[in-house]
Amino acid sequence: MIDAKKILEIISAVAKKIEAEKDFLTQLDNEIGDGDHGINLSRGFKSVEEKLPTFADKDIGTILKGVGTQLVSTVGGASGPLYGTAFMKAGNVCKGKTEISDAEFVLAFETAINGIKMRGKAVEGEKTMLDALCPACKVLKEEIDSGKTLTEALAAGVEAAEKGVEFTKTIIATKGRAAYLGERSLGHQDPGATSSLYILQTALKVLQRG
Ligand code: ADP
Ligand code: MG
Repeated sequence: MIDAKKILEIISAVAKKIEAEKDFLTQLDNEIGDGDHGINLSRGFKSVEEKLPTFADKDIGTILKGVGTQLVSTVGGASGPLYGTAFMKAGNVCKGKTEISDAEFVLAFETAINGIKMRGKAVEGEKTMLDALCPACKVLKEEIDSGKTLTEALAAGVEAAEKGVEFTKTIIATKGRAAYLGERSLGHQDPGATSSLYILQTALKVLQRG
């Protein structure tokens, strides 16, 4: 089970983590993109942070939709609409709920990923954020289904996302700006997969705080 207060804590912590990693994310995007991923996400999550007080006492659906709307409207790059869609889709699943079960958390995560796939017309294995998110969600679901707590399951999910980020170094980009590089994208880790890992790691940290 996870309540609206925890969701707000996670979002606030994610905003701080993105700010802390802004330069590194931008550096990764310099190598295979246009060098703005950290700048894009920092702008987006700063505006989310400013909106946080207006989300207090709101249900999880409203909070997640608000985050998504903020990201879509403030982030110029491809990642804004993609992350924005993810949060909005997750918000649909949590509509009117002040707390969600672990199974609902899994469903929200799956729905968010499907939103990214639809919006970006991408699948796993194309060197994008999906290469961190999809394995993480799969493992998370398996662990929840086998009776683990959300914190335990997310810890396993984060490990899967870490492997996913490593995997992006070994594949050629076929979506997004990095696709222009073809083989030259080999050896570089995907910026979006990396920011996705940071979001999951941060959520885990907040859950582990209890
Ligand atoms: P832009 O590429 O417009 O400069 P960003 O630099 O903010 O946007 O984000 C780049 C990241 O977005 C990539 O590293 C990749 O993970 C992700 N991305 C790009 N295109 C897609 C897509 N079609 N589907 C999923 N993720 C994508
Ligand atoms: Mg970029």
